[in-house]
Parts: sequence; structure tokens; C-alpha cells
Amino acid sequence: MQKKQAIYKGKAKTLFETDDPSYLIVEFRDDTSAFDGEKIVKLSRKGLVNNHFSEFIMGKLEDAGIRTHQEKRLSDTESVVKHLDMIPVECVVRNIATGSLCRRLGTEQGIDLHPPIFEFFLKDDALHDPMINASHIRTFDWASEDEVFNMEQLTRKINEILKPLFHDAGLLLVDYKLEFGRFNGQLVLGDEFTPDGCRLWDSKTRESLDKDRFRKDLGNVVEAYEEVAHRLGVALPAAA
Ligand code: C5P
Repeated sequence: MQKKQAIYKGKAKTLFETDDPSYLIVEFRDDTSAFDGEKIVKLSRKGLVNNHFSEFIMGKLEDAGIRTHQEKRLSDTESVVKHLDMIPVECVVRNIATGSLCRRLGTEQGIDLHPPIFEFFLKDDALHDPMINASHIRTFDWASEDEVFNMEQLTRKINEILKPLFHDAGLLLVDYKLEFGRFNGQLVLGDEFTPDGCRLWDSKTRESLDKDRFRKDLGNVVEAYEEVAHRLGVALPAAA
């Protein structure tokens, strides 16, 4: 498959066209961003770790019957993915209260959320990704009624698949964000699943092993991602 010109440069990934219009090549870069792109730093090996990490998680989800965009890892930092028609909405599930939920509602940090909370946000950095609901999505026609229903069902189903996976690795899946798109008329998980887009705490110490280390300047960001990858059994090439 031939890599052609870049068609989209996000904050941490670049998408390239290929000679097949149904497929793209995604490159995971070392750029790490927070606060809607206000803080951006290059962290060595982050692109490599996230590419391998997302391939691993998407593989587990495919094994459990979830359709994902992941086709094939091409190199340490690149993968072939399906070319989705992306829905401009972020789907968040929360198992434990932290982050924007606590800021918005004054909820006590660290309490378990039963049943897990599901939220939609509009993907728009300039507007700081505002929280929206199904009514906004329908009125502005960002997705169909069925897609709205299925995005929540799939995001919750993925929670039931991933929670035990992380639990067995000594990790709490605190919350995460997913993005979906359309491929041949079907809803498919796109974007990525990496510690950039979820919160993972050590089960015993509750130490953050995710992008909160970057947001809060705690240091050892990529080291924490590698620790999570190691615990899950994600095979990573040794550092040069
Ligand atoms: O900031 P907030 O608490 O709403 O984030 C919830 C979850 O969604 C976190 O795991 C965070 O990393 C993820 N998220 C994301 N991209 C965004 C917003 C949130 O990956 N733009």
C-alpha cells in the first residue's frame, strides 16, 4: 500500500491518503497536547508506544466482536486504518469520578460511579469541546437516531470488555473517550485507544499512569505508558 499526501494533521496523529480510497495510514507522532492544544510537547517514544498500544486494544475489541478501524500495523509509528466518515462527537464513559465531571458537578474525587456515567461532547477545540446531549446531535444532524443509540451502547459494551482486561493488569479504567465513524454504512470505532485518551490508575496506589501525568506536570509520562503496556503484555521494541 502506497503512502500518499497528508490529509489531516491532528494534535498527536497525522492521516495520510493511500492508493486505496477506503484506507488511510495513521502516523502516531511524539507530540503530546493538553488543554485544547495550548500545551504541546514532544515526548520521545510516545508515538511508538501509542501505535502499539492502540493496535493491541483494538485487537482485543475486535476479538470481542467490536468493529474497529484498525487493519494492520505498518511500522513502529504507523498503522493502516479504514477511512471512516467521522462523527464529530466524543463519547466518554466514567467508572470513577475525576476530571471535568468533578469540576462541573462538584462530585467527590475518586468515588465509584454505578452505573458508569456516559457523556457526549462536541469535538471542537475552539469551543473547548462543550458537553452536548442526544438532542443537539439530532437537531444539528451530526449523527442519526440509530447512531446516537449505538454510540452509547458500543461505548458501554467496550467498558465491559476493557475493565476486566485492565483489572487483571492491576489497573483501574477510570474513564475514557472514544470516537466513531461510518464505513460502508456501519458504525466503526475510530481514532485510538491509548493512555492519551483514558485515565488509568494503579489499582493499589491509585497513581495516575496516563495523560494526567502530562496535564499535571508529574513527569515520567512515557515511562508510565510503557509500564501500562508492559503490564498488559503489549510487545514494545526496546529503546535504542
Ligand atoms: O476531561 P474529562 O474528565 O472530561 O475527560 C474524560 C476522559 O476523556 C479522560 O480520560 C480524558 O483523557 C478523555 N478525553 C480525551 N480527549 C478530550 C477530552 C477528554 O481523550 N478532548
